[in-house]
Amino acid sequence: MFEKILIANRGEIALRIHRACKEMGISTVAVHSTADSEAMHVKLADESVCIGPPSSIDSYLNIPAIISAATLTNANAIHPGYGFLSENSNFARITEEHGFTFIGPSPEHIQIMGDKVQAKAEMKKVNVPVVPGTDGRIENVSSAIEIAEKIGFPVLIKAAAGGGGKGMRVVTHKDNMENSLKTAQNEAKVNFGESSVYIEKYLSKPRHIEVQILADKFGNVVSLYERDCSLQRNHQKIIEEAPSPTLDKVTRQKLVEVCCEAAKSFNYISAGTFEFLYENGEFYFIEMNTRVQVEHGITEMICGVDIIKEMINVAADKELSFSQKDIKYSGHSIECRINAENPDTFIPSPGQITELHAPGGLGVRVDSALYNGYKIPPNYDSLIAKLIVHSDDRTSCIRRLKRCLDEMVISGVETTIPLHKRVIDNDDFISGDYNIHWLEKFMSEN
Ligand code: ADP
Repeated sequence: MFEKILIANRGEIALRIHRACKEMGISTVAVHSTADSEAMHVKLADESVCIGPPSSIDSYLNIPAIISAATLTNANAIHPGYGFLSENSNFARITEEHGFTFIGPSPEHIQIMGDKVQAKAEMKKVNVPVVPGTDGRIENVSSAIEIAEKIGFPVLIKAAAGGGGKGMRVVTHKDNMENSLKTAQNEAKVNFGESSVYIEKYLSKPRHIEVQILADKFGNVVSLYERDCSLQRNHQKIIEEAPSPTLDKVTRQKLVEVCCEAAKSFNYISAGTFEFLYENGEFYFIEMNTRVQVEHGITEMICGVDIIKEMINVAADKELSFSQKDIKYSGHSIECRINAENPDTFIPSPGQITELHAPGGLGVRVDSALYNGYKIPPNYDSLIAKLIVHSDDRTSCIRRLKRCLDEMVISGVETTIPLHKRVIDNDDFISGDYNIHWLEKFMSEN
């Protein structure tokens, strides 16, 4: 087993990885920008190294600085968390080339799945159903129109290297294709450094359902079932739940088996998530995330598995500590992503925390790197806490969540807690009757 792991991230996920390491008897190295010298992950780690100025490009995305920090501290392995360099195959490759273990999948898998066009092609090969659309990249307006007419408007132009819901454009009529294509290509270039785009059928009322898998180097692949992440704003998840309120047992079983088979067939290792859109009883693959996800906690709550510890075990050449038959998911879990933002305009609200009270009690988990007096810097993502609740069934889980949101105090900055309170009080949410467009409609009406 590793003696020392460098955590190439910040915020709640850095802390989450630190906690797993400590419980496994592993020392931790935090890396941080100058804006984060007082951050919780830095305070708690056994060692810390400043890797650059506040801007992410110069710090958390600075590969030479991170590799130097690992060398300097004699770390054995690097965990990238989510975001930043977690899906950068180059980083994974360089990490390994410098003699450190990358805690995640192989650079090849990261590369293939990072290109969504290639990822869909790979999935098709192993019988995973994908959203109808182009088989390759779109080269020009006329071929875009031809394809759109074949699959039927509306269509969605998406960035091949896309992520975080960026670089997507809905096109409802061929007259808008030229403009939308240009905008999408520009957006892709600015956000991901390459302008390639592809086209998919735009589904009008799907749910976003994703399957968590874990795989080791001995060919064992286990599914930790699904999460429903349909409550989104700007294609970004706000509230997630597991299991999905909409799937029956047979459908669920079929879905998770398809994913396990696929992962096995391309020798995937570590944690991974197959993302699908689900509409009219059909699943359509959209992408695979080759890292731990923000919302992994709800899966841990219903399955009783520590996903980060398993990732570390697998990277250290150990077998998964359980098999599929050991996983008996139980009860229901919901996560609210709490952001330091105005709950109506979503304008970021960095600043100093003047008062903090986290809810507690049975079945309650708050993953957060906040503390009293902490100054949230303006340079990074505004996620400041994940409130994760578990209970015997969905109804009692919602009640527990409501109780927790009422208890939670975060003062000094604006947060999205008021929005969460309104959403979980709504009849559609309570009945589980929502799709990916529901939240935006709800916000525009309320
Ligand atoms: P990203 O990698 O940017 O997160 P995804 O492909 O995972 O992009 O899609 C993010 C979200 O965008 C989905 O959860 C869904 O809400 C929406 N979306 C993606 N593809 C489609 C589609 N073909 N039709 C309708 N909505 C889509």
